[in-house]
Amino acid sequence: MLSVFISEEDIKKRVAELGKEISNDYKGEEIVVVVLLRGSFIFTADLVRVIESDVIVDFMVVSSYQGMETSGEVRIFKDLAENIHGRHVLIVEDIVDTGLTLTKILDVMNSRNPKSLRTCSLLSKPSRRIKEVDIKYVGFTIEDKFVVGYGLDLDQKYRQIPYIAEVTE
Ligand code: 5GP
Repeated sequence: MLSVFISEEDIKKRVAELGKEISNDYKGEEIVVVVLLRGSFIFTADLVRVIESDVIVDFMVVSSYQGMETSGEVRIFKDLAENIHGRHVLIVEDIVDTGLTLTKILDVMNSRNPKSLRTCSLLSKPSRRIKEVDIKYVGFTIEDKFVVGYGLDLDQKYRQIPYIAEVTE
């Protein structure tokens, strides 16, 4: 069963706040916004529409952390089309859990020498962290719950739910 955990209205309000904060921080600068697929596609679609700075949107598909635990590294299934050397890069995640995925992605991105590199995540579960990772913009800090909707899935389902839902039996 699914129950509403964060409502559409609360998400909309928070996304608008994040957009304002990001617009202020990058005044007059162009940002390469990196959408980490698939989970952050809906969040980023809403977020870029409330950012006033110039935005270039690019997409990346990386392996999930289960895969990483065996290989010890992020597997990039689809890399960026943009060259990020000397540019402001903002990575957008759906949720940071252990922090392993984002840490590895930051290593990969840093090796490409961007002008600046920041991260934004709709959700963060700090109690689950294995790797401390700096998230510059956090939508909501939540406790250790499995959530779906607004882009997040359970076995590839429920991404289209317009709110964040908690999965309960
Ligand atoms: P991390 O490397 O931080 O542990 O993993 C982050 C990824 O794990 C997210 O991008 C997401 O795919 C998945 N994940 C972690 N917690 C949740 C959750 O509560 N719900 C869903 N749907 N995915 C989660």
